[in-house]
Amino acid sequence: MDHAATTPLHPAVTEAMLPFLRERFGNPSSVYAEGREVRKAVEEARGKVARAIGAGPDEVFFTSGGTEADNLALLGVARALRGRGDHVITTAVEHHAVLEPCHYLEKEGYRVTYLPVDGTGMVDPEEVRKAITPATILVSVMHANNEVGTVQPLEEISSLCREAGVYLHSDAVQTVGALEVDVDHLGVDLLSVSAHKLYGPKGIGCLYVRRGVEIEAVLRGGGQERGMRSGTENVAGIAGFGVAMELAAAEWRERSSHVRPLRDRLVEGILGGIPHVRLNGHPSLRLPNNANFLFDYIEGEAICLRLDFLGIAASTGSACSSERGEASHVLLALGIPPEEAHGSLRLTLGRDNTMEDVDYLLENIPKVIEDLRAMSPLYPGP
Ligand SMILES: *Cc1c(COP(=O)(O)O)cnc(C)c1O
Repeated sequence: MDHAATTPLHPAVTEAMLPFLRERFGNPSSVYAEGREVRKAVEEARGKVARAIGAGPDEVFFTSGGTEADNLALLGVARALRGRGDHVITTAVEHHAVLEPCHYLEKEGYRVTYLPVDGTGMVDPEEVRKAITPATILVSVMHANNEVGTVQPLEEISSLCREAGVYLHSDAVQTVGALEVDVDHLGVDLLSVSAHKLYGPKGIGCLYVRRGVEIEAVLRGGGQERGMRSGTENVAGIAGFGVAMELAAAEWRERSSHVRPLRDRLVEGILGGIPHVRLNGHPSLRLPNNANFLFDYIEGEAICLRLDFLGIAASTGSACSSERGEASHVLLALGIPPEEAHGSLRLTLGRDNTMEDVDYLLENIPKVIEDLRAMSPLYPGP
């Protein structure tokens, strides 16, 4: 129940990758047959990735994943447009893969506005409008949040950006395969995708860059990916990513209708069966597979460990911040006090989860919570 952290390979993805891990080892840049044949596979996969998000193949640049795509979008656009402006707008609830490059840009002399969100994690498009100045070169707002699942009003934000002539980037790592992701419907100029969040392999993803958008490479070298991302292509990863994207585009509705009732049962069961617990994020405008709870008087980390004993994989917030021991920046941005934010538990469902999985969790979690609370000196009782 931690599909927001990563997902297993879809069997069709594994099949598509195997030839490139075995016999088809050519370098796509080589002129001889082994290279040419692998180049063809890379370009076929690019076509699949592009079609899945309503883009052209020339607008897709393979990267090592979501983190690199986010870095390329932020640093690449900021540097390309340095002569025009020095101001970037993003939100307080972005993934670290967006926030850290923003902090780095500030060190390089750019100015960054981190927009607040409301108690559900939603950005107010009006705040975006107010933040845009003549010096603004880029707005970066994630499509849906990886911790609390809130889906942002991207279409509205994109019209504002269009009017102001400012590029819009979106981290869509959590939404491809879960919601409709079409670059024209969303109105984005740049979009980050990661394969391992959508039943593809780790270490591959892409940045969509709308034709004509000015952007500079970050990784420089042999000039692969039309100079935008040097380095010999991760061919097996790319082949798997292509198939994963084709399946995501074909199946996102089905996948959503599979996980939504499971998630709703989970939420009902936990809110109805356990005292002192709240749901974080937006009640309805959220990822169909995401449930994020706040349990009073206990640490989310302790719940995760106890669930692990029961064979249930869950996390507190994002997998990336759980090692830092700090309260989640997302929950803090929602206005939750730090001492309460430590009591969060994120459950994210996937295509392999069943109603039996949900029932198993619901049968076991009340005792886990009760036991942990019994050890807390602050707990007043149910
Ligand atoms: C997982 C994730 C990333 C990072 O993607 P990687 O491919 O693991 O580098 C970026 N943004 C969001 C919203 C994510 O959930």
